[in-house]
Parts: sequence; structure tokens; C-alpha cells
Amino acid sequence: MATVYGLIGKKLGHSFSKSFFQEKFHTEHIDATFENFEMDDIQAFQSLRALHPQLRGLSVTIPYKESIMPFLDALSPNAQAIGAVNCVAFRDGLAIGHNTDVIGFRDSLAEVYEAEPGGKALILGTGGAAKAVLFVLQHYFEFDEITFASRQTSAADTISYEQLGQQGLLDYRLIVNATPVGMFPEVDQCPALDLATLDPRCLVFDLIYNPEETKLLASARTQGCPTRNGLDMLIRQAEASWKVWGV
Ligand code: NAP
Repeated sequence: MATVYGLIGKKLGHSFSKSFFQEKFHTEHIDATFENFEMDDIQAFQSLRALHPQLRGLSVTIPYKESIMPFLDALSPNAQAIGAVNCVAFRDGLAIGHNTDVIGFRDSLAEVYEAEPGGKALILGTGGAAKAVLFVLQHYFEFDEITFASRQTSAADTISYEQLGQQGLLDYRLIVNATPVGMFPEVDQCPALDLATLDPRCLVFDLIYNPEETKLLASARTQGCPTRNGLDMLIRQAEASWKVWGV
């Protein structure tokens, strides 16, 4: 019986993962299938396991990267530290949660960011992706200060968009959009930042990969800033999941 891999999320539509892994199985002559498992509720994860005993690996997407954690038997140290799982491997009847977004973001950023010690980094959003970004910046880069921009500003290391509007963006050497703002089909939206205040040395990284160039990235490019979209990260996290699954 063919081994089964898959993606779980609420609304999957056309998924990058399915075409990426099916193509890889085909070119590497591996007898496996990749299925999209849409779930209205993460509780359905238990019955999915029971229904598919030949399941070897899962990718996890919005909105279950955090809510899947209580259903897993163990977590990798990275997934534990970040508090989010985007990859599950099944071994000897156990479901183990991993975070390969970290590897995807770290390697994609390292390719374009000229790491100089010091400087300030700004992460837009406080969800699962933002937590993985923080983990990478803290463990692999040497910023003096890392701040989250959020619509809710209760935490100490968080700034509101209003405050950012007053202070401007000149101090930042890296800005990462880890919100869905600007993602297809809402391509006319842009995070509420005064982009005219960007330093042209600031790298603007948008985790969004559809569209290829978000409104945020287009505006940053116009200001002379280097930019990066989320496609390379997406491919790198998929390659890392493939290794975790031991395909
Ligand atoms: P999420 O949990 O749905 O949202 C992240 C955060 O964005 C929220 O916690 C919220 O922070 C902020 N946010 C949400 N809606 C907003 C709005 N209308 N205006 C301003 N801020 C808003 O999503 P996620 O899983 O962290 O993913 C975030 C983005 O990264 C998505 O676009 C996802 O597709 C992308 N992503 C890409 C990759 C890749 O491989 N390229 C991997 C992972 C994720 P506050 O409430 O604090 O404002």
C-alpha cells in the first residue's frame, strides 16, 4: 500500500504543498501520495490518524499550527520553544511535531541579509509565523532590539501601528511582514506603515508568496530597499519537512 503524506488546514483550495510533493514523488520514483485534508476543527486530527494508518507525514497550515500541539505525542525542541508546529512526522505509532518554517525563514533570510551585528528589527504580527521569525532572529542573527508591531499592544516588546507612524521606520535594518495583510485576493492592502520613512538599507521581507510582489514590497522597492518574498522560504520549509519525514 502506498505511503500517505498530506496537508491539514481549514481552507486549502490550490495548495503549493500538494503539487510540490507530488512532483517530488514522481521524479524520485517514490510510491506515495499527498492529500489535502481540509478540517473544520482540529479535533478531526484524531480520526484522520485512525482512518489513515499508512500516514507518514503531515504539513500543517492556517489556522492549526498552534492548536494541533495538544494532539501530538512529542515536540522537537524548536517546535516546543516557538509554540507552533508546521510539520508532523509519524514514527512507531507516535506523532511528533516539528517547526520547519524556522529553517525556511533562516536560510532564506541568510541568503539576502548582510548580517551586521546590532541594529533593530521589526516583525509585523504576533501569530505562529511571527514567533518562528522571532526565534530565528534571536538564535541566528545579532540584532540589538527586536520589536513586534501589533494591533494589540499589551506586551512589553510590542509597538502599535500608531506609535510606529509617529516614530517612523528609519531605525530599522530589517522589517518582516508576518501578517496576512496584502495576500491574494486582498492584494491592494498594505500594513499601516509610513514607508516614506524607510532607510534604503532596510531589507523588507514579506512572508507572503501570493502575489509575488505585495504592495508592501513594491513600495519598499520604490524607496530603494532590498526586498524578499516568501516563496523561497516556502520551498525551503517543504524541503526541510521532506528530510524530517525521512522520505
Ligand atoms: P495568522 O496567525 O493568521 O496572523 C498572524 C498575525 O497577523 C496575527 O496574529 C495578527 O497579529 C496579524 N494580523 C492578522 N490580520 C491582520 C490585519 N487585518 N491587520 C493587521 N495585522 C493582522 O497567520 P500566520 O500563520 O502567523 O501567518 C502569517 C503570514 O505568513 C500569512 O500570510 C502566511 O501565509 C505567511 N506564511 C508564509 C510562510 C512561507 O513559507 N512563506 C510560512 C508561514 C506563514 P496582531 O493581532 O498582533 O496584530
